[in-house]
Amino acid sequence: MSQTSNGDSPNHHHLLIIGTGPAGLTAALYASRANLAPLILEGNQPGGQLTITTDVENYPGFPEGIMGPELVDKMREQAKRFGAIVKFEEATQVVLDEKPFRVISDEATYTCDALIVSTGATAKLLGLESESHLMGYGVSACATCDGFFFKDKEVVVIGGGDSAMEEATYLTRFCSKVTVVHRREELRASKIMQDRALKNEKIAWQWNQQLVEVLGSREKGVHGVKLQNTQTGEETTYPCQGLFLAIGHKPNTEVFEGLLDMDDAGYLKVDSPSTHTNVEGVFAAGDVMDPTYRQAVTAAGSGCQAAIDAERWLEAQEA
Ligand code: NAP
Repeated sequence: MSQTSNGDSPNHHHLLIIGTGPAGLTAALYASRANLAPLILEGNQPGGQLTITTDVENYPGFPEGIMGPELVDKMREQAKRFGAIVKFEEATQVVLDEKPFRVISDEATYTCDALIVSTGATAKLLGLESESHLMGYGVSACATCDGFFFKDKEVVVIGGGDSAMEEATYLTRFCSKVTVVHRREELRASKIMQDRALKNEKIAWQWNQQLVEVLGSREKGVHGVKLQNTQTGEETTYPCQGLFLAIGHKPNTEVFEGLLDMDDAGYLKVDSPSTHTNVEGVFAAGDVMDPTYRQAVTAAGSGCQAAIDAERWLEAQEA
């Protein structure tokens, strides 16, 4: 199969992949080894969520663990070695009711015969005015990106899932005290992550508490949080110099609204166990279609499936 179905149009590709987390890069690896020379648009967070992770200890093949950004760099190099074309551009609009499909980025318009959507998911926020006002001024949704700025400071982490446990544990490397604020008195996190956090002497706990306001200013940063007890309604002020949100993620599917079938939370629906979406020739892989597992290795696995599905679908079209 040639690189482009229309040799006159350098902006046409048999296969275009949106997103370069483990799903997109694994899809790119398989598709490029199938001689499809896919074009991959990186989006505004090249490498996806792995780039804001430190030690990845559960990706097979790295018994000592590997840093998230390094893992992504290796995946990208591996895909490029077989002819994948990677561009640092963000897809801002797609047209899926015409063939070839059109993908409009912040730099160019591309057409493609098949499309893999692997745009991942992004951290959720609480939606408080003080939270957005102080974002970047003491409030963060990424401990691995910003933890270093809170050296010897006291910080609060919101959430009770694996992300909250991971971020709280990570922050104890820098901070003098980390307090996990959770709205219930039972953690959602996996046993191993809970145990690690519960054993950590630098981590304190505030159970049955909901954040209602972040206290501080852009000039002076955060000096505390206002919490409300979810059982009694009582409000208290808790001192801290930093706040980290770790309350889950939202799939990055805005560009596909009204075009591809999604569930209520915005995750793309696929014809499971395949990666086919409701539009023929459009496939989805990784966290954008997976509210359940959300692991680098499962994302990579579904990226592989999407590339194989796309390759077979393209072959069937040619036949
Ligand atoms: P999650 O499992 O959905 O947990 C979100 C947490 O935030 C829950 O404890 C939830 O409280 C709380 N929360 C949600 N909305 C809130 C709100 N408005 N106010 C206060 N609290 C709120 O999300 P996650 O921790 O990001 O994990 C998602 C998936 O990724 C999981 O499958 C997890 O296993 C996986 N993950 C794995 C690792 C790892 O293995 N290294 C690391 C990170 C994530 P409730 O419990 O009351 O609902």
